[in-house]
Amino acid sequence: MDAATLIRNDLPDLIAMRHTLHRHPELGLEEFWTSDFIAARLAELGYEVHRGLARTGVVGTLRNGGNRRAIGIRADIDALPIQEETGLPYASERPGLMHACGHDGHTAMLLGAAKAIAERRQFNGTVHLIFQPAEENVGGARIMVEEGLFTLFPCDAVFALHNDPSLPLGKFAFREGAIMAAVDEAKIIVEGRGGHGAEPETTADPIVAGASIVMALQTIVSRNIHPLDPAVVTVGAFHGGTVSNVIPSRVELVVGIRSFDPQTRDYLERRIGEIARLQAESYGMSARVEYSRSYDTTINDKEQTDYLRERAVQFAGEANVVDLARPYMGSEDFAYMLRARPGSYFFLGTARGKNDRAWHHPGYDFNDDILPIGAAFWTELVEDFLAAA
Ligand code: ZN
Repeated sequence: MDAATLIRNDLPDLIAMRHTLHRHPELGLEEFWTSDFIAARLAELGYEVHRGLARTGVVGTLRNGGNRRAIGIRADIDALPIQEETGLPYASERPGLMHACGHDGHTAMLLGAAKAIAERRQFNGTVHLIFQPAEENVGGARIMVEEGLFTLFPCDAVFALHNDPSLPLGKFAFREGAIMAAVDEAKIIVEGRGGHGAEPETTADPIVAGASIVMALQTIVSRNIHPLDPAVVTVGAFHGGTVSNVIPSRVELVVGIRSFDPQTRDYLERRIGEIARLQAESYGMSARVEYSRSYDTTINDKEQTDYLRERAVQFAGEANVVDLARPYMGSEDFAYMLRARPGSYFFLGTARGKNDRAWHHPGYDFNDDILPIGAAFWTELVEDFLAAA
């Protein structure tokens, strides 16, 4: 039986598995229930199961034949601190936590493939299925790599996908080179001198200085960076003050920064620091900047992206394969696996219609119609990559 038929015959089970995962969302590095669920499933299917990389990571390994080639496929498994508002019968059972990015779907697709790969055994070599914790902010991929992922599980290439509710159902979207941005965060603390709201002349008002910093930050991308060099500076939070008759003594801004070019990334850090300090100084105050680098740019290998695209054309037809004209400004810690091994990351369309909610929205719902497509594609990719010699 071919992989697609095999997976279709198991579809009710695959959907039920996705819904079970959806009911049990867990935050990064705390995916204990999820990790147990995945490990049990892989063991049942006859995979060697390794646990504990990045705390809750699971790697399932299956060997067949004598070929030394090995492929790695990664699914992220973590959820988000969002209160679900879908009203679905399988909605989150954990208050304040939700699979709002579809990582439950990624996990279910890879487990669906795990079953088809094991049952068919149409490959010669080694498959490593990598279930990675903490994609959303802690960087589970980096931790797994640092803890020896590819020393323990050498892979000739590594692949991953993300669902995309903005692309038509079943569309494969590829991009060689940069596909996701680097992301950093700056916390700016402005220290002023508080006092009575009726006597501003006796104070140093950090709200005014903070507002000025917010406006000045807008000039970095518009005035300092080349128009064709993508960058984003977003002030996502501005905390300060309580009531109208009190001038607070400090405010705090939290800034998200995205870029691709490493030099631009360095420049953004320097310029944000300058603007914060000098703006504050001009108002007779001081500003302190705590800057932290989060994920690097996700860069797809050309050869592996070409290979993946070719497999997708074979699998879904030319009409269902697109090349992204632009990278996304979002970020992805799969970047760290791609720095360690050649590979590629792509998007798989899941759009249903007008009511689709974007990632990280409390109404987001992963489209189960993509499950058999994703699972069959992973299965066929493994079988092609490790084609019996
Ligand atoms: Zn995601």
